[in-house]
This record gives sequence, C-alpha cells and structure tokens, in this order.
Amino acid sequence: MKIAILGGGISGTALARMLAADGHRVTVLEAAARPGGLCRSRKYGEFTFDEAGGHILFSKDKKALDWQLDRCGGEAGTMRVERNTKIRWHDRWVPYPFENGVGHLTQDAIVACMKGYIDAHVERRLGVPCPPNFRDWIHWRMGAGFAEHFMVPYNEKIWKCDLATMASGWVAGRVPEAPIDDVLRSALGQATQGYTHQSIFWFPKHGGFESMVRGTVEQGGFDLQCGVRVKSVRKDGAKFSVDGESFDLVVNTVPLPQIEGAIEGIPAEIRADIRAMVPISLINVMIGVKLDEPMPPLSWIYLPFADQGPTNRVTYYSNYSPNNAPAGHGSFLAEVTYRGKLVPDAAWMEHVLKGLARAGILRREQVVLAEWCDNTFAYIDQNLEFAARVGRVRSWFDQSGYITFGRFGRYEYHNSDQCVARAMEVHAHIREIAASGAPARPAFR
Ligand SMILES: Cc1cc2nc3c(=O)[nH]c(=O)nc-3n(C[C@H](O)[C@H](O)[C@H](O)COP(=O)(O)OP(=O)(O)OC[C@H]3O[C@@H](n4cnc5c(N)ncnc54)[C@H](O)[C@@H]3O)c2cc1C
Repeated sequence: MKIAILGGGISGTALARMLAADGHRVTVLEAAARPGGLCRSRKYGEFTFDEAGGHILFSKDKKALDWQLDRCGGEAGTMRVERNTKIRWHDRWVPYPFENGVGHLTQDAIVACMKGYIDAHVERRLGVPCPPNFRDWIHWRMGAGFAEHFMVPYNEKIWKCDLATMASGWVAGRVPEAPIDDVLRSALGQATQGYTHQSIFWFPKHGGFESMVRGTVEQGGFDLQCGVRVKSVRKDGAKFSVDGESFDLVVNTVPLPQIEGAIEGIPAEIRADIRAMVPISLINVMIGVKLDEPMPPLSWIYLPFADQGPTNRVTYYSNYSPNNAPAGHGSFLAEVTYRGKLVPDAAWMEHVLKGLARAGILRREQVVLAEWCDNTFAYIDQNLEFAARVGRVRSWFDQSGYITFGRFGRYEYHNSDQCVARAMEVHAHIREIAASGAPARPAFR
C-alpha cells in the first residue's frame, strides 16, 4: 500500500520503519526541519541537551525496549545507568519515591505522614471509595501528611491548577502503591527501594535522546519529508488525499489540535472537543556549568516548593552520558511547566537559576551556558472533562478510516517506549488490512 504518516516523532518514524520492512511505500510528513518531535536534542558547542526535558530509555515492555536499544546501537551505543532520584525537601535530600524516603524528614513531618498514611489505609479498608478528583485521591491514597509535605505542592507546581479540578483516573498504574510494611520501615530509617521498573535505565552515548530517532530513520526504508506542514487531508472514495497526493491509508501522529483544521469531514462537535484539549506546556532550561568537583551521582530531582524557583524537576544530564558536556563541565535540564503563554526573558532565566542556587543544585558563578526551549505540547491536561472528551474524539477517528495514535495524536499519556509499542499494534492492524485486501477497514483501537 501507499501510506502517508503525518508527524515524524518517534510514533510516526517507528511505524514507518515497520511498514517499510513489509514492503509498503511509506511517506512521513514532518513540519519541523528534522524528525524527533519531543525526543529531539540539540547542541551548543560541545554541550548536547534534550529539548523536552530529561528523557531516559526504560520500559516494562521488553520488546519495545529492545527495539529502542537496537536503534541506539544496543549496549555498545548506550550508557547503562542506575537511577538515583531524590526530592529536595527544604534543606534535605529525600530519596524518591517520597513514601520510601519518609525516614529522612523531620520528626514532626514523619509523624504527620505516618498518621495520615495509616488513617488513609484504614479508611480504604473500611470501604471508602476511590474519589474522582486528584486532590481527594492523594488524601485517600497517601493521607494528609504526605499530601501536605510533598504530593500537593509538587503536583500543583507541575500541573499549574487546583488539583480538585483534575481527574484521578489517569494516576492508576502511574503511581504505584508502596506496601505499608515498606513505608513503616522507611519511617524507622530502614532503606527500602520503592518501585523497581526504572531502577536501571539506558541513554545514548552520543547525540542525546534524539539518537534513538536517528537510528529509526537511518536505513528505515521510507521517504521522510521535513519542513512539510500538512495543510489538507481528505477522504477520496476508498482512498485519501494529503496535500493533493493520493494514498491508500493515512496514519496521524500529529497533536490533534495541530492537525484538526487540515482534516476535512470532522463533525463540529468533535472539532470543539479537540480544541478544548489544551495541553500543558514546558519550558526546558538547558544549563552548562564549569565543575570544580564532580557532579553528585544523581539522575534527576524534584523541587516541590516555591522558594526553589519555578522549576519542578532537574535532570543531572551530564550524568546520563559523559559526552553530553565537555571535559571539566556538567549540565542540567530544568523543567518549568506553564499554561497559556510564557516567554522567558533574562529576568525570568535569572529567577530560575537563583532558585536552583537556593536549592543547592548549582552556584550562579559556575553557569557558563543557559538557553531555553519551548514545548507547547508536553503534558495532557487531565481535567474532569478530559476522559469523556477524548473518548468521543477517539471513537470518531476509529470509525472514520483514519488511524490516529501518539502522545497527542491519540492523547494517551505515553512515554516513547509506549509509542513504539503502539506503533507495533498499528503495524499489526495494517498487516490485517493489507492481507484482507478489503476496502472496508476494521477500526483501530
Ligand atoms: C517532560 C517530558 C519528559 C519525558 N520523559 C520521557 C522519558 O524519560 N522517556 C520516554 O521514553 N519518554 C519520555 N517522554 C515522552 C516522549 O517524549 C513522548 O512520548 C514521545 O516523544 C511522543 O512522540 P510522538 O511521536 O507521539 O509525538 P511528538 O514527538 O509530539 O511528534 C509529533 C510530530 O508532529 C509534528 N507536527 C506538528 N504539526 C504538524 C503538521 N501540521 N504536519 C506535519 N507534522 C506536524 C511535530 O513537529 C512533531 O515532530 C517525556 C515527555 C515529556 C514532555
């Protein structure tokens, strides 16, 4: 078949590679000057940075992880890193997840956290149901102490809203429940590990996270056209037309609000749903420092408090690969989320750097480079209307003959490994279509 894939992020390029291997004629149309989307990296002198905050290779899905590692040259092309993540809790470094680090808090905070945790545990045992909003969910799952000392301030900082306006459904599976024995042990100062699926991760030795996408494109067997912002997509009998060219099948991976205007035939109420799915955006501040001692052996840290500046997470990026920074230097990525509009100026950058200095992460005079990158589509706004809205949008697309997937192409809160796993599912689905030869197509879900 002749297939058009809209968007050249990891979702689009991974699928293109899989389909090309089956002998299909595949064209990927990407608006930016090079592929990669949220997985892109960039260079400043000898510094390499990821554009959309710290990215790591890890997965619960071995097939997807192996596929990604292969694209990076396997073990030889990647660094294998032991995760070491902490929360900067006032003047303390608390191991992450927070429940497993509770013994590192002040005595008053430990008592508040443990009392709340036990109260919540008992209430759940007595049958108090899972609340529909995220703020109440935090109290229900973790109790008042953990809510006050980390979960609420951190989540308000990243999501930029009253947590009562967010749904709780999306958290299931993303925030694993720590066994109460572990939390009690942690409170007594014993080391407990918390969830282990990220305890080891991988990172490309050279070129940042984008190397994984480059390895997908290289010898991928498909036609990649960059600098092409798709303007018109429509059905043409049993075929499709994209910017006037005819295709047997169209697969979208572009964020839906960025492509909806180009696709003919979407009903007005579905368009309204798509337009209402406004993303949470991210300014990623890329920082190079001159080192007078080695970087602390950290992977990333969380900054829950306002006096630490607007940053919610800092990646110790030069620890991922020594090639990310020149000799004698280190690098950080500081992530700042926003809703609506944020245009960083010199004063704002200074505010970020001073916050990091106050949090004890760097000294202002070490900084030799500070740049920023804006990512409009970073996080999905999990508000109370989202599930119904996205349900309607997906069901329209699934019966339309178009296939849509990807982090914002289907609004699934996926990391890149899950995008690859979904590409494998779409690939299997298209194999069925190709094998049947029938113009009537089963729906992709
Ligand atoms: C802060 C942050 C941290 C993350 N950390 C990790 C991590 O540690 N590990 C991990 O695996 N994943 C991580 N992720 C998730 C990962 O970045 C995404 O899941 C993945 O990159 C999404 O790929 P995609 O192809 O679905 O979408 P995108 O990367 O958004 O690709 C969509 C593409 O469509 C293009 N486009 C837009 N409009 C048009 C148009 N009109 N015509 C043609 N093309 C168009 C865009 O330029 C873009 O290239 C993180 C994400 C964020 C925001």
